[in-house]
Amino acid sequence: MTEFPKKSVYVETYGCQMNISDGELMEGILVDEGYEVSSSPEQADVVLVNTCAIREHAEERVLGRVGQLYALKKNRPEVILGVTGCMAQRLGEVLLKRAPYVDLVMGPDGYRSLPEQLNKIRTGANSVPSRSPKKRGPQLAVLDLSIEENYEGLTQRRSSQVGAWVPIQRGCNHRCTFCIVPYVRGPEKNRKSREVLSEIQEIAESGRTEVTLLGQTVNSYESEGVVFHDLLRSVARIPGIRRVRFTSPHPNDVTPELLEVMAEEPNICEQLHLPLQSGNDMVLRRMLRRYTVETFLEKVQLARNLIPGLSLSTDIIVAFPGETESQFEDTLRLLREIRFDDAYTYKYSLRDGTPATRFPQEYFVSKDEAQNRLAKLIEVHRSIQAEINEAEVGRTEEVLVEKEGRKSGQVLGRTRRNKAVAFIAPADAIGTYQQVLLTGTTGATFMGELLD
Ligand code: SF4
Repeated sequence: MTEFPKKSVYVETYGCQMNISDGELMEGILVDEGYEVSSSPEQADVVLVNTCAIREHAEERVLGRVGQLYALKKNRPEVILGVTGCMAQRLGEVLLKRAPYVDLVMGPDGYRSLPEQLNKIRTGANSVPSRSPKKRGPQLAVLDLSIEENYEGLTQRRSSQVGAWVPIQRGCNHRCTFCIVPYVRGPEKNRKSREVLSEIQEIAESGRTEVTLLGQTVNSYESEGVVFHDLLRSVARIPGIRRVRFTSPHPNDVTPELLEVMAEEPNICEQLHLPLQSGNDMVLRRMLRRYTVETFLEKVQLARNLIPGLSLSTDIIVAFPGETESQFEDTLRLLREIRFDDAYTYKYSLRDGTPATRFPQEYFVSKDEAQNRLAKLIEVHRSIQAEINEAEVGRTEEVLVEKEGRKSGQVLGRTRRNKAVAFIAPADAIGTYQQVLLTGTTGATFMGELLD
């Protein structure tokens, strides 16, 4: 019989950078309690699926995956299967009923108590019996949202030796009508700046040179009188840190002061993610985005004036309820005008509990039409992106090597402007900065040649 290490955990994460960071946090919390981290579910006795609730499609995928993982419990009934993150928070007890073999559902504010809850499941200390006839232990739902939990004082286990995600804020105070985040992650909670800075000092001492500050609306950060651009400047000046990025900012909080700090501090990368969502004012109003096309364009202009060579990326949702063909065309027009370096494009996905679900039925765009609009949007974006990137072929860029590439002998890295580059280099180049000639592009990523 195979011997499995005692108390080992496998965390499988879906979704955004904040969720990836939460996965590292859960690993760190459990490692501090004596757990080992496994690289496969077959090797672990605690399996956590860390989920995203932003789109219906992502939730369906996760439910399918949780069903697959149930197979592990058939051979080893002692395995604890948990679902954590935004989807766990959204579905809560419903998820326990739909998947009665799941032992634990835990929302994003419950991770501090993870070791304790796992022990309860192991010892059967909870009085709630399992709903599954096939399962003996209790099922647990940990779903309280907190107005202060920001995981201060806990250790995150960092999966990359090169860069680090640093959450500085959790939750969101906005109420964009399509978005589930404020309901599953609660209101905005900011960490103290001195805690953030001392964590980044430790990151630098560990040899990592790139940090990405994370928050749902990261640039609305404010704690004890320190606002985002102050914190950003201090982070950029920490010895050993060579690249600073942040995501995801809200356009309304992109201030001249923030852009000036970005322009002045050489360690802040000339890269900005600016979620547009739609290129039509009526749609933006229905989304409750609180800016107009004109004010968005002003921010883009100011950013480009202050930060030469700035690389811009965005998020766009098509087929939001009530979006007409001509309003969608406005988005395409704006895309052609701004020319983003990258764009994350989505069809509107209805999320129960969000205000957009209450629009009149006739506002909802048919699935076929939504798919057509998405396909057109992707086509326009890809052709713009290919033009931008083709014009950059021939440049020499500083690349931070992040990992091995798909092909043997190849490594993958990023430029300061967040462009992915694949090139031939020894694996021990990982973690180093290299001068790379961009020799070609697939449209989205680059091929390069290492210079001496
Ligand atoms: S700003 Fe809007 S889209 Fe972003 S997390 Fe908050 S509610 Fe969601």
